[in-house]
Amino acid sequence: MSVNAVLTAQQAPASAGAPDPMLIEDLVAAYRILAQQGVLDGFGHVSARHNRAANRFIMSRSLAPELVTANDLIEFDLDGNPVDAKGRSLYSERFIHAEIYRARPDVRSVVHNHAPSLIPFGVTTVPLRPMYHMASFIGNGVPVFDIRKSFGMTDMLVSDSKKGHALAEVLGQKAVVLMRGHGVAVVGSTIPIAVGRSIYLDINAKVQAQALALGGNITYLDPQEAQKMMDAGENRSYERPWELWKAKATGK
Ligand SMILES: [Zn+2]
Repeated sequence: MSVNAVLTAQQAPASAGAPDPMLIEDLVAAYRILAQQGVLDGFGHVSARHNRAANRFIMSRSLAPELVTANDLIEFDLDGNPVDAKGRSLYSERFIHAEIYRARPDVRSVVHNHAPSLIPFGVTTVPLRPMYHMASFIGNGVPVFDIRKSFGMTDMLVSDSKKGHALAEVLGQKAVVLMRGHGVAVVGSTIPIAVGRSIYLDINAKVQAQALALGGNITYLDPQEAQKMMDAGENRSYERPWELWKAKATGK
């Protein structure tokens, strides 16, 4: 047995068992939907907490999102260790997902993307704010994680548990955390909610940039209006567009 094989044997966590087939189907759809909607390109990823164990999550091997199939999905523990990677390479930023799942028991899906529309709001003093009702989930603010504050000069990637933990701390109880000079992490209590939020966050950022370019005063959604939207059921849990997005993404 090689040294690597010994390490793998010692470190590999036990599986929580086979996930719900619907979870797998929705997670594969999520990768494709986010690629088709222009939120993910060749980079970025989405994950889901395992339905059988709170300390396990599922995400793809390192692969462009639009190519992901059920066979590419791998189970991980909250230290970012794969149960069985079968020798395949992993996303270096899986610690974003692992540490958010550890910090937020309410979160069952996480999206990490580098949507260009969001980058300006992480690198300027202009806060990302809700322009319309579809973005009510950011009515209580969008924190910005600056990796430099805790880790100095880095390659900008959240590539270990410490960096993931720091990111999760800045996220706090919010739905979204911008990552300065990098991208964003978006969370949800279901896969459709995390995906829907990611799509409408991108649209909201584009609309906000358009409004800022027009000049003049901008009337943002009031935090109370946003809260009333959330209390009424955020965008009806995205059920209607999810059905459409999934059908388009999976050809069903
Ligand atoms: Zn990234």
